[in-house]
Amino acid sequence: MNNIDKVNDKKNENDSELSEFDEKHVWHPYTSLSSPIPTYHVVSADKCLLRLDDGRELIDGMSSWWACCHGYSHPHLIEAVQKQLHTLSHVMFAGIRHDPATVLCKRLSGMLPKGLNNIFLADSGSVAVEVALKMAIQYQSARNPGRTRFLTVKGGYHGDTMAAMSVTDPGSGFSSEYQCYIPRQYFIERPSIPFHGEWNDSAMLPLENFLKEHHHEIAAFILEPVMQGAGGMYFYHPQYLVRAREICSRYDVVMICDEIATGFGRTGRMFACEHAGITPDIMTLGKGLTGGMMTLSAVAVTDRISEGISLSPSRVLMHGPTFMANPLACAAANGSLDLLLYEDVCSQTSHIEKVLYDGLRDLVSCTETVKEVRALGACGVVELRKNVDTVSMQRFFVDKGIWLRPFGNIIYIYPPFIITDEQLRACISAVRELVFLLNDGVQTSQSCFSV
Ligand SMILES: *Cc1c(COP(=O)(O)O)cnc(C)c1O
Repeated sequence: MNNIDKVNDKKNENDSELSEFDEKHVWHPYTSLSSPIPTYHVVSADKCLLRLDDGRELIDGMSSWWACCHGYSHPHLIEAVQKQLHTLSHVMFAGIRHDPATVLCKRLSGMLPKGLNNIFLADSGSVAVEVALKMAIQYQSARNPGRTRFLTVKGGYHGDTMAAMSVTDPGSGFSSEYQCYIPRQYFIERPSIPFHGEWNDSAMLPLENFLKEHHHEIAAFILEPVMQGAGGMYFYHPQYLVRAREICSRYDVVMICDEIATGFGRTGRMFACEHAGITPDIMTLGKGLTGGMMTLSAVAVTDRISEGISLSPSRVLMHGPTFMANPLACAAANGSLDLLLYEDVCSQTSHIEKVLYDGLRDLVSCTETVKEVRALGACGVVELRKNVDTVSMQRFFVDKGIWLRPFGNIIYIYPPFIITDEQLRACISAVRELVFLLNDGVQTSQSCFSV
């Protein structure tokens, strides 16, 4: 036995010891260590299936928090990362360049809405939002000194770090514990007309009126284009973005579109901004950027913004994450872009939208339980009248062989683009069954509503 194997010997600890340690000492998202939500032990994943330690397989309807758009263990992505692993797995990015990053940035700027020519690579979505906000502050310190606050819409979500939380809807619960610390920002009504609704320009009054009065304080207006994600899976009319673009330009307020959830085909267009044909001043990308292989995010900006930053007092953007432009992550992202371009992702997502909507829409007839059913691209939503209990719902779905994670009053299906129709219908059937149970007031399912 060589020395490495001796060290490794420890890892044969039995599963119940590990699971006990995990439950007592390992934090999982949005839960407490003293009474954690239960976990399922995933041992591997392939295409659209998660495999549990007891041999069960679950159809993934979540794309692992919206990242794994090509499913799991895609051979092209594995090969892309493996090749890079043998050549250069990491090197600092200060004073050094490498092809995986340069090629990725060149490809991104070629496919993003026209004008987003300049790319900053960061390590997670929240950090990309922090960088975008810092850029806006710095741009304004050169162009319109004194503009130091941000404007956003209610119902938005932009991440869990401090500044990202400050522009996330304070009513959503993500930031309530930290209000004493995070900076106060401005919130206006969320875009009131839904995606398929009839446009009425009065929907712009909250933004018009606010900026008319307060533009001299506002560095940037940040929002998720077309689809609000973690704030409630709400789809709004693209014309809102067209008009918001005009209004922001009029007052030289930086427009930041956070495409971390919507980018790379999810809404039926490569980028959600394309529904409106606009170019924001700054765009943030993450989640699906590497096809879910590993963490990476990007901030894309126009020349006007990068030139403004160069005129600010320090002249340079003061941000440099240790793992900036990690070559493995860039290689994964390049592999994911190959697939997106090769697979004709937009026709895949339009097809998923149709199957989801056809399968879910008549649930609105459960009027006691269901408020609305909607679908856009590869995202189908059943909005309920009451909040649900995530844990018991998760258990219900796992028993049906499905992996879904409802939140608040939202049950939604957000599958990898490669999901088969049969797998998608299995997800839909499970959601239907649950909604019918809730609607019939069946005793056992009552516990699925939180009290
Ligand atoms: C998930 C998300 C983020 C945060 O990304 P992380 O990688 O989780 O930090 C930011 N903005 C939007 C719109 C998101 O959906």
